[in-house]
Amino acid sequence: MLHILVLLALLAVVSHAQLHPRPRQVTAAAAALSPSVSPAPSASGIATASASQPIVSGSVPNGTLAPNASVVPPPTFPITLLSTNPTAIPLPSIVPNASTQATVPLDTTYAAGAIPTGVPGAPPLPDISTLNPANYPPLDRPPPTDTAFVQQAIAQVNASGFSIPSIPVNQLGGCPANPAAVADPNRCWWTCSQCTRSTDIITCPDKMTWGSTFDDGPSPYTPNLVQYLDQQNIKTTFFVVGSRVISRPDYLRSQYMGGHHIAAHTWSHTALTTQTNEEIIAEFAWSKKVIKDVLGVTPIYIRPPYGDIDDRVRAIAAAMQLTIIIWTSGNASNHINYDTNDFNIDAGTVSASGVINNFTNILNNASTLQTGFIVLEHDLFQQSVDLAVGYTIPQAIAMKLTLKPVINCLNKPLSDAYLETNDNGTNPLPTAVGTSIIAGAASTLSPGAPGSTSASSRGNGAVQVRGGAGAGVVAAAQVFALGVIGAVAAL
Ligand SMILES: [Zn+2]
Repeated sequence: MLHILVLLALLAVVSHAQLHPRPRQVTAAAAALSPSVSPAPSASGIATASASQPIVSGSVPNGTLAPNASVVPPPTFPITLLSTNPTAIPLPSIVPNASTQATVPLDTTYAAGAIPTGVPGAPPLPDISTLNPANYPPLDRPPPTDTAFVQQAIAQVNASGFSIPSIPVNQLGGCPANPAAVADPNRCWWTCSQCTRSTDIITCPDKMTWGSTFDDGPSPYTPNLVQYLDQQNIKTTFFVVGSRVISRPDYLRSQYMGGHHIAAHTWSHTALTTQTNEEIIAEFAWSKKVIKDVLGVTPIYIRPPYGDIDDRVRAIAAAMQLTIIIWTSGNASNHINYDTNDFNIDAGTVSASGVINNFTNILNNASTLQTGFIVLEHDLFQQSVDLAVGYTIPQAIAMKLTLKPVINCLNKPLSDAYLETNDNGTNPLPTAVGTSIIAGAASTLSPGAPGSTSASSRGNGAVQVRGGAGAGVVAAAQVFALGVIGAVAAL
């Protein structure tokens, strides 16, 4: 059993009036002798909306818009952790619109020609002095498919030998809006059933090994996270959004040169099953290109926004030499989604203590797995970073868990993460012959157990356009306002 280094009970009670509070001190008190499992957030903690009422930051469960999250305060939970960072932001201060932490400037800006030391065989960093966002698609919008670049990518997919299944494009509105898709197990639509194929990476093989992932950056708070990870000598996997990469290329170079695993997360953070084949190809192609342009290497791994994939999306990814990483979903008898839901603090639909509670449930569930696990966290908003550096990572360290980037938790070297450095002998890329994406047996986990974040509740959710609200990106706010994109669980 784990040795308790510090027993610290943090009781955070966020009242309605505290949604825009003055920071106050956390009440610390001795409590239980071991980490407790509190009731998990109910489905009411999961944001939902209809396609005609796209969810925005601050939405509430009934799908109406609440721009300032001032309607229903999220539930809070008593928290017990083994350890926290002494400099942690108090939980009651980790609230929507938080601005309690200064951003950390980059310690180094890497010049063209610098050699990545952590990636054997990697080319020198390219010259990004002439990188021009005008040469890329508009931020946070699905890239147009009629450009020469995307047409070339489409032609390459057509020539790849992969057969793309004729699965209909989903409608906006998530599972309720797509009953035929839900009812068809052959599509293996993860969003509603958490169906996976053998080609999906959802766990780490070694028990109690944590595949650490942070999505949606780089953001202004990413350097805060990287600084802490550096202090702890921990590497992670960053699933970066193309629109963020072109906005902050030096940030991405810092992450990459620091030895972290860089993987793709599309260009505009769309729900891929709602996109046509051509639109999916455009999302994948631009996200690969911008990373290559900034780092000199092309990612092999991708995480679909919201985990929204079916066999059509899987086939297109494979045809484009991309391997899908989602996150762990517990086991059939004890089903917990390994999504901390940290992203939704900014939306006001979950409290900081609620996220810690999710995290505690994940760690308790992890001991029941025969494998390691992959946890979803985010580095787009300050609140998510505050929780990671203040609470979740210190807790994992105290529990003596092994945190690794996903590529390393798979027992592969970092060089296997990129096309230019991958040893295709030990990390073969998907091929159209012999490794059909559809060949793997489907496995569908049972519906969520009480206290878990069930598949059905997630399916009722709505897309959050994952751009840069809170990250200083105007375009994202425009997308929010227009409600361009619509319809699955928010992740
Ligand atoms: Zn995301």
